[in-house]
Amino acid sequence: MLNAAFNDTVRKGWVLGLDVGGTKIAALAADEQAVIRGQVILPTDLSSNPGTVASICAAVEQVLRSAGAAMQQVSAIGIGIPGLVRGGVVEMAVNLNLQSFSLAAVLEQRFGVPVVVENDVRTAALGVYDYFQERESLHSLAYLSIGTGISAGLILDGRLYRGANGMAGEIGHVSLDADGPHCNCGLPGCLETFSAGPALAAFALQARQNGTLSTMDQFAVLDGAVVYQAYREGDAVAQHIIQQSAFHLSRAIQWLVMGYDVEKVVLGGGVASQGEAFLNPIQQELERLRAQSPLARRMLAAEKIVLLPPDIKPSGWGAVVLGRRMVASPAQVHV
Ligand SMILES: [Zn+2]
Repeated sequence: MLNAAFNDTVRKGWVLGLDVGGTKIAALAADEQAVIRGQVILPTDLSSNPGTVASICAAVEQVLRSAGAAMQQVSAIGIGIPGLVRGGVVEMAVNLNLQSFSLAAVLEQRFGVPVVVENDVRTAALGVYDYFQERESLHSLAYLSIGTGISAGLILDGRLYRGANGMAGEIGHVSLDADGPHCNCGLPGCLETFSAGPALAAFALQARQNGTLSTMDQFAVLDGAVVYQAYREGDAVAQHIIQQSAFHLSRAIQWLVMGYDVEKVVLGGGVASQGEAFLNPIQQELERLRAQSPLARRMLAAEKIVLLPPDIKPSGWGAVVLGRRMVASPAQVHV
């Protein structure tokens, strides 16, 4: 999956990639040619920190077994975690109940191979970059994940950009509207409060409580998928919610392009999996900008902003890429 020059530097062995989430762990085993030879999905044990580590260890052992490989063949393990990660330490991962936890060191001691841990959206950005780089010449990319939260991962000059605090790309918590909904981070009107999946459902619930009639009234439980379905059917409430979301996401895309001059913005995550119903209203908002400005036409060209292809699971593959990059250049990743 990687280019020839990169392959030449990493013929030492296998790499395991783990996407550790709040409910499940997806693990991949890639051989020295970066071909996936095994994959498993296990539930994440959240009962205690040792329990969480035990489930990560079980995923490592089971994916090796599924691939018919042994730990002696493994050169590195890459791990994506939903949280703030610095230098192999999980500083905060609310969904995993981990805080100031030296996950890389614990796993290195257990398995005797180098372990690299990174935020899951940053890890996914590496996986997405690797996918597109296989198909076109590309040096920079922003991966914008829109799901229960919103976050971006940045690849600049071919490298993952973390920023001073490992927070580069956390644009879900940029406050856009002082009168907007209260966000969990404490600020009003963050991007997440307009465009993340729970935000779409919250606006639909608010409309229901205000007595506004909607085709969504038939659903006891509201979520982002229900809002998009109603949007497709022309429901006025859903159309307002989706257009509001698309307006803010179009601005977020503009920040990423104008802030970092990336060549491509890839939209992924649970909400983006709504496909054209998700992308079209965003492109319409961007078209309004393009129609007004030669600069916007040049920088925000429609073909720059694309959906993540549905067959890609970027976090797991990104964790493999993370591990392979550490093998190729250990100092880069451990800094
Ligand atoms: Zn916030």
